[in-house]
Amino acid sequence: MNEKTEGQKLSEKLFYKSENAFEKLEKAESEKAFEYCKGYKKFLDEAKIEREAVKCAEAMARENGFVPYSFGDELKIGGKYYINNRGKSMFLFRIGSENIKNGIRIAAAHIDSPRLDLKPRPVYEDSGLGFFKTHYYGGVKKYQWTATPLALHGSVVLSDNSVIDITIGEDENDPVLYINDLPPHLAQNQSQKTLALAIEGETLNLLVGSMPYPDKEASEKIKLNILSILNKKYGITEADLISAELCAVPAAKARDAGLDRSMIAAYGHDDRVCAYPALTALFDGTLDSTHTVMAVLADKEETGSDGNTGMKSALLRDLIDEIARALGESPALVRANSKCLSADVNVAFDPNFPEVFEKRNTAFINHGVVISKYTGARGKSGTSDASAEFLGHIRSIFDKNGVIWQIAELGKVDQGGGGTVAAYIANLNIDVIDLGVPVLSMHAPTEIIAKLDVYMAHKAILSLFNA
Ligand code: MN
Ligand code: MN
Repeated sequence: MNEKTEGQKLSEKLFYKSENAFEKLEKAESEKAFEYCKGYKKFLDEAKIEREAVKCAEAMARENGFVPYSFGDELKIGGKYYINNRGKSMFLFRIGSENIKNGIRIAAAHIDSPRLDLKPRPVYEDSGLGFFKTHYYGGVKKYQWTATPLALHGSVVLSDNSVIDITIGEDENDPVLYINDLPPHLAQNQSQKTLALAIEGETLNLLVGSMPYPDKEASEKIKLNILSILNKKYGITEADLISAELCAVPAAKARDAGLDRSMIAAYGHDDRVCAYPALTALFDGTLDSTHTVMAVLADKEETGSDGNTGMKSALLRDLIDEIARALGESPALVRANSKCLSADVNVAFDPNFPEVFEKRNTAFINHGVVISKYTGARGKSGTSDASAEFLGHIRSIFDKNGVIWQIAELGKVDQGGGGTVAAYIANLNIDVIDLGVPVLSMHAPTEIIAKLDVYMAHKAILSLFNA
């Protein structure tokens, strides 16, 4: 090989380069990433909605020695605790040996994903077909949810306060639900409409039956038959569906994607692709932090983080305050010295739609975990914009720990934009930066991520906990 020229050496020194992680990773490391993703795929299949994610996380937490915590409980150094907040969000933390006034190291991800929720009065029949009415949750492209098998997940609360969990459509012997679309033969007018209007919200009705209840005298026999099936199986009535949270999600399981199996196709990578690494980092055997560390699994991010299970709720602040008080330090000081990764996905560059991206500041699949200094729309509206100092700190931690990372914005300026929970945490006077996994077809019923990137999210969060 020829000696490198002066200019080549200088470019190596001066240029910042982001490249495919396979180009620089040892084979053993990429094999580790592929192995790591087996657990991730299992999590994807078991935790399609936030309630299921909390159940999974709680089981994992207990296996790893975490115990339930309530406000006012005593906290011990080395103690491992969690709060299961109303079955829909979760806070897991381990008390470190160093003074709590040095702050908490936090990773916050969300466990809700775009989907179709049942309306309070969902069941009806029309022209010999039985349906459930839905109201979409989060940012969905409605046309993507038609003509594909869907499963129903969620819980029904009866008038005696007992809770019945429901999952229909995941077992291969289960029936699936379905939303009709027009055949191309009759879509002359539909095809002229914009994508946003081709399928409207009120046409997202789940097909649930076509068989009348066997009674000549009864009315609404298809609806009756559906309710009778639900009543036999779960003991519920139409009124019970009012106090219920039932969600239609894609019925498919997570699958390796690509002939090289380098990617995973699944529903709801956003944001379980960060929630899972937050958990695995907290449970990692090599976690030897003296800091107090915390993983937050939030609900309601896809609808704006409002509500008592969303990140705008006072719970994170209350919890930090309680931890500080229990350990005899100022809550304000603990918050001021805390550091947080707002772990959420970013959009991956898609060469099929290059026009919406600014290639120099966009995330690429396989280039590692993505840092975003800011999010927001237009003139960075709605972002907390991490400080250069904090980004510098994070970058040096990642480099020290062999985390492969890239820096990106979400698409072209003025093309759109998006937000994360970062701002709500930053508003508590905590240093926060966005970090996540690049996703292709984000918010589609099936999204794509790369295995190396998920593994790098795990390493990134672990390195913040340890730093
Ligand atoms: Mn997200
Ligand atoms: Mn999202």
